[in-house]
Amino acid sequence: MKIHNTLTKRLESFKPIDDKSVTIYVCGITPYDTTHLGHASTYIFFDALIRYLKFKGYTVIYTQNVTDINDRDKDILQKAKEQKIPWSKLAEFWTKKFLNDMHSLNWTPPDNFLKASEQIPAMITLIQKLLKNNLSYQVKGSIYLDISKVKNYGKLSKFSNPKMLKVAEEFEEDLKNPDKKNPLDITLWRATEKNQPSHIPSFDSPFGKGRPGWHIECSAMSISSLGEQIDPFDELRVNGERSRTIDIHGGGADLIFPHHEAEIAQSEGATGKIPFAKFWIHTQPVFYRGQKMSKSKGNLVMVSDLLKKYSPNAIRWLLLSNHFRKKWEYKEEDLIKAQKNIDAIEKVLALQGVPREPIATGYKDQFIKIMDENVNTPKALKFLLKLAKENSKKDLLKLMSVLGFDTKKLI
Ligand SMILES: [Zn+2]
Repeated sequence: MKIHNTLTKRLESFKPIDDKSVTIYVCGITPYDTTHLGHASTYIFFDALIRYLKFKGYTVIYTQNVTDINDRDKDILQKAKEQKIPWSKLAEFWTKKFLNDMHSLNWTPPDNFLKASEQIPAMITLIQKLLKNNLSYQVKGSIYLDISKVKNYGKLSKFSNPKMLKVAEEFEEDLKNPDKKNPLDITLWRATEKNQPSHIPSFDSPFGKGRPGWHIECSAMSISSLGEQIDPFDELRVNGERSRTIDIHGGGADLIFPHHEAEIAQSEGATGKIPFAKFWIHTQPVFYRGQKMSKSKGNLVMVSDLLKKYSPNAIRWLLLSNHFRKKWEYKEEDLIKAQKNIDAIEKVLALQGVPREPIATGYKDQFIKIMDENVNTPKALKFLLKLAKENSKKDLLKLMSVLGFDTKKLI
């Protein structure tokens, strides 16, 4: 199987570390505005990939996080302040909404669904390692990763320094903080300020009260959940043969820099194990009305609204009809077409009579050939339509379920 790896910018043969099981970490939501079509596009793609890996015989261990806290006073914290409710209540509300929307789309929940606010000890341990390895420094109780000490910083994004600064500014990455040696140094721990507004959370740590940086959260949660389920920071494990590299780390392409770049620097700096993750897989954004779908542009299309008019299978069809490596624009006419395709398949499956038997293994092999070539879901859907035309019900049902369509609703 070949998949595009952002780290090497090439199509590469995918082979998990141990030939039997695949570990996968996908960066999750910040729970304050879910679930728009951009979120669904990423998580349904990874859902289809995971189902396909299982179909191929792998055991998959999947972790996804919820960024319910971070170092910046924006997004969730600002919304909690505006609405005069605690950040934890807001996070709980939107996380529940996200899960409901994703369940509607027949999503397989991750094995580990981790809230950052509940994983602070793993983050503290990782920060302690970075301090011990002399890769980070402390100023007024806050701790920063010194990127000048990180070997090959930028190896994932391949961004120049000016480009890093530009993108980091778009992400409001605290570039003007006078305590940093370099504006691009990464905040690992932000100390609680005197007279800190009450909407901002504060956690105990050996470094004093504060809260973790956004990037260290995912380093800690991926390492702690996808290791061998023993002490993930055990010296033997991270430096010796028993350590395990994560097979796949994924997320939306806008996370490549600074988030995933920082994750690599922190994780490899703390454990000394390279690479932290073998495959980096990124989904391209969804556009609407000519612009990237985002809260700031005000052009969100919410899954819950689409579900009022279209079936969950039609929404999944629309999402998978776009290849994960291509940006795409949401147009309602395409969702109407997706609904027609699902209706046509449903009609075939509802026809009375003995289903035509599969033609030996031919169909399965053709499907595998399509999906093995960079997870080509658009081509796989066309193949399903072909099976519907040929009235090959058994194959159709099996392969529909491999891509995560709810086949109970189809018969
Ligand atoms: Zn993340």
